[in-house]
Amino acid sequence: VDPPHYLRCVICTDVMRKPMSLPCGHSFCATCCQQSLDRKAECPCCRKEVTHAPHPNISLCQAMDEQLVHCSFGPRRKDFTAAPVFEIASQGCTAVVKRADLPSHEKDCPFRWVVCGLMDTQTDEKCRVVCRQNELAEHLRQCDFALAPCPNEGCDEQVSIRSIDKHKEQCLFETVQCPNPGCSEFLLRTNVRAHQEQCPFRVVNCPFHKYGCTAQGSVTFIEDHLNTATNDHLMLLFSMLEYQQQRHLQEKRISCPKKRFKCIINNFVRLVKKQVIDVDLDYSWKLKIWPNGEDKRHKGYVSIRLFSREASRTFKVEGPYTLRIVNHMDSQRSIVKMTEATSREWADSVRGWGFPAFAKVEDVLNPEIGFLKDDKLVVEVEVLVSSALEIVEYHGEAD
Ligand SMILES: [Zn+2]
Ligand SMILES: [Zn+2]
Ligand SMILES: [Zn+2]
Ligand SMILES: [Zn+2]
Ligand SMILES: [Zn+2]
Ligand SMILES: [Zn+2]
Ligand SMILES: [Zn+2]
Repeated sequence: VDPPHYLRCVICTDVMRKPMSLPCGHSFCATCCQQSLDRKAECPCCRKEVTHAPHPNISLCQAMDEQLVHCSFGPRRKDFTAAPVFEIASQGCTAVVKRADLPSHEKDCPFRWVVCGLMDTQTDEKCRVVCRQNELAEHLRQCDFALAPCPNEGCDEQVSIRSIDKHKEQCLFETVQCPNPGCSEFLLRTNVRAHQEQCPFRVVNCPFHKYGCTAQGSVTFIEDHLNTATNDHLMLLFSMLEYQQQRHLQEKRISCPKKRFKCIINNFVRLVKKQVIDVDLDYSWKLKIWPNGEDKRHKGYVSIRLFSREASRTFKVEGPYTLRIVNHMDSQRSIVKMTEATSREWADSVRGWGFPAFAKVEDVLNPEIGFLKDDKLVVEVEVLVSSALEIVEYHGEAD
């Protein structure tokens, strides 16, 4: 129903909204009229000067209210620029109502345009589809934002159809493959963690990890590794044991008192023909006696030296030690030699500590002088280990 020309505003050419009249009698929309007067105080139609304010045209208002108009949700499709439109075959609203009744009609018009607006359950997106109100139900049947139950058995979640895949990425009832490389087990996601703890393809450390083995791999790999790396593991264990033992020794301070040994050498006259006589004093000390000199230079002399018996350890000995060949007839005539009172380290490599020319062989063998009694030679040793620390040379890594 086209409005007659007298209901149109000559400025905007539309149906007048809130018509206002100028004193000359011409009428325009209220806003068109005001804008024109703001530019120039004359009627835009007849150019007559406007001296009085415009006034509402009540009869024009009534005429327009009585006028019949089409519902704006008519067959002509609205121009939706951004939103997607869902429309089946709707012809739109054909209602013709009085202009005054148009707002209340359009408010409830079944052909009015509405936005779907369904929310995605997995994202915060909303369906932006526009459709006529009476076709919304049909759209909702097809809308991929609509909810559907998760197809996985056991899962009772309702998920937007478009995001089913996204849900399945986390759905506990989705069947997935064990993520361990090489494992072909398929199982529900909810069971993966329990499976992984038992999975033969899980990555584990070699049981000798704490001893320094860096091997890592699947359980079967480690089983193979245990078979092939036995030597490596033994070496690791060995060096660990050695390290602990050395540490133990290192921490052990020994404080031994003065040690006094008395060694009686039987059948000395016969032994004189030997190059050297070895006498073990105890577990850590040893005496060597060369009855006829330890080398050519000391031929004719008895050489005596003290040695450490412990190959693996080095002793630090403080204080002097004493060697004495006892004279049985007169103890005042015993031969006594004492080292200087210094400390030094003792190791097996050290060439003993003693005196290459301790006594003349002929004196020792002379029964008149008194060193031999019943063919026995008595040598006394005093080791003044007032305080000794075992020094351990160990070049392992620290704890
Ligand atoms: Zn106008
Ligand atoms: Zn006029
Ligand atoms: Zn309508
Ligand atoms: Zn929708
Ligand atoms: Zn699910
Ligand atoms: Zn597995
Ligand atoms: Zn290993």
